[in-house]
Amino acid sequence: MLSLNLEILMEFIVYFQNLTIMNVDLTYYKEGLIRSDRIILGQAITLIESDLVEDRRLADELIENILPKTGSSIRVGVTGAPGAGKSTFIEVFGKYITSLGKKVAVLTIDPSSQKTRGSILGDKTRMEELSRDSLAFIRPTAAGSAAGGVSGSTREAILLCEVAGYEVIIVETVGVGQSQVGVRGMVDFFLLLMLAGAGDELQGIKKGIMEMVDGMAITKADGDNVAKANHARADYQNALHLFQTSESGWVPRVITTSAVAKTGIKETWDMIESFLRHSANNGFFERQRNQQQLSWFYSALDSTIRDKIIRQSKDALASIEKRILSHQISPARAAQHILENLTF
Ligand code: GDP
Repeated sequence: MLSLNLEILMEFIVYFQNLTIMNVDLTYYKEGLIRSDRIILGQAITLIESDLVEDRRLADELIENILPKTGSSIRVGVTGAPGAGKSTFIEVFGKYITSLGKKVAVLTIDPSSQKTRGSILGDKTRMEELSRDSLAFIRPTAAGSAAGGVSGSTREAILLCEVAGYEVIIVETVGVGQSQVGVRGMVDFFLLLMLAGAGDELQGIKKGIMEMVDGMAITKADGDNVAKANHARADYQNALHLFQTSESGWVPRVITTSAVAKTGIKETWDMIESFLRHSANNGFFERQRNQQQLSWFYSALDSTIRDKIIRQSKDALASIEKRILSHQISPARAAQHILENLTF
């Protein structure tokens, strides 16, 4: 009896100790973010990217705590093929935003970091000048799935930056594919950077990507490239007019830019501002934010269920895989079977 009580007492002590540690940590992160401490912002992003169960618990608590203070930034997605000039453009564009007295955060999604734990972006110094600007914060983020869904951790990183007072958040994605679609679903304005090529300007451009963008910038419009860039601009603008008007009622615009000659930079910002005015006026801005919040929930739900199934049904999965491969059971029926035997 006595030993049982002692055990319960010990459990209580450990529980309260953990609770205290958790609160100290939570306060540390929360207060650090509120006073816009860049080191703590970086640490908080590392926390939300962590796969450790303990870190995840604290990350969830942190996110829940800061939620009421989020949502006030302008979220801009920037995409384009490697070599299109994204990092050079973002550096000059970011400096323009800070020259307006606004704080800018750049989150770069690096799809290679998930698989290799290395980074294709890490090997070159990107945005050196912007990273020295006291109004700017730059951070590569892994395209991991810790917070649910492909883009969970980037979505949470956006929220952390907002609490730390960043007014414009640029989410940069490299290359085409899943991360590009993911970014479209977490930003207000999606910008595609394109290099004017020789010959058929529209070759190689996927219609799907064109349908996702709110604006396009033809990069490196300087020197001998100016005429080619202007030509490409007209071609893309025509192509965009062929698409049906998007849900926002906004017709995407195409501009030419040069990070070297610093042209088209203010124009890019003006384009984003007019889109924001347009979408605030017709209610699309809020509708899109709400829709994004719910699709985050559903993708988190998907990955939570999947994780649970994989953790709980390891053996059953191994044996059902064999039955699927020997045509004893159909994949659809196998999925139902696994679900039916899951305990919640
Ligand atoms: P990213 O891979 O899309 O991030 O492209 P980068 O920003 O690294 O640029 C690729 C190359 O294009 C680099 O050698 C840059 O110096 C060059 N570049 C980028 N922007 C411009 C520009 O506005 N004009 C010219 N002429 N070259 C540029």
